[in-house]
Amino acid sequence: MTQAVNPASPDECLDVVLRRCGERIMAGRGCDRAEALFEARLLAGFVTGLDTSALMLQGDRPPETGVRDRLESLCARRAAGEPVAYLIGERGFWRYRFRTAPGVLIPRPDTELLVEWALELLPRTTRSRVLDLGTGSGAIALSIAAERPDAEVHAVDSSEVAIRLTARNREFLAEQGAPVTVRLWQGDWLEAVAPASVDLIVSNPPYIAADDPHLAEGDVRHEPVEALVADEEGLADYRRIIIQARPVLRPGGWVLLEHGFEQAQAVSGLLEQAGFDAVDTRRDVAGHPRVTAGRRPD
Ligand code: GLN
Repeated sequence: MTQAVNPASPDECLDVVLRRCGERIMAGRGCDRAEALFEARLLAGFVTGLDTSALMLQGDRPPETGVRDRLESLCARRAAGEPVAYLIGERGFWRYRFRTAPGVLIPRPDTELLVEWALELLPRTTRSRVLDLGTGSGAIALSIAAERPDAEVHAVDSSEVAIRLTARNREFLAEQGAPVTVRLWQGDWLEAVAPASVDLIVSNPPYIAADDPHLAEGDVRHEPVEALVADEEGLADYRRIIIQARPVLRPGGWVLLEHGFEQAQAVSGLLEQAGFDAVDTRRDVAGHPRVTAGRRPD
């Protein structure tokens, strides 16, 4: 749909600019109007530094030209497919805001299930040792550390960009009132990590098969393929993690793995073959089987 409003009109009010930006996002992404307008408002909040209610109050006033130009350019990039989280440089996860950056996977609400389950397995009263493998932005490790200040949390990633982003997010959490200690390791899964006798290993590894059509849609097109795609139908990294995890866990220690919604059986099978017991799967907010746990027998 084309708009009758002239985009260059200097006295055009913010609401009109936002509506036009929403139309553009809707047309580019093929999403519905409400979602497109929501995203346009998020981008406007980022450009102006105003929250939603302040933006509403400004709605009938013309934005400064610089603000309008920046907003329109961000909305054009969004319409072309760039993820909102990369455009504004952050995303909410669990209880905090996390910095995001191209080259590192954007935290997703599905993964909050992993944090929730991890916290159930970690008593508040004991000094547990936790490892997050493939930490990315650090969302999982830092969220757990914020909830369990007594836990010793280690985060591993093979990507230097990811480790740097996790370090930034550790500072960002402190700015948000949650100072945490998380130790960072760069390397391949457990190969780079010193700690043994671990109580809990958590991981959201790459698990999408290389030929999955999902990779050609939406935000994932802009995310790092090495954080998304794994060989052997997406199962290659589970095989490595599960084999490496067993000797590192203390007897009775747990491994918690996020996976694709059709992989619960395969991941459960790998855990059982490796001698884990109490294997169990839970569903995410969307109702998909998303996280599977296994315990190292005593
Ligand atoms: N859940 C993500 C997606 O399907 C994939 C994350 C991952 O591979 N670890 O977009």
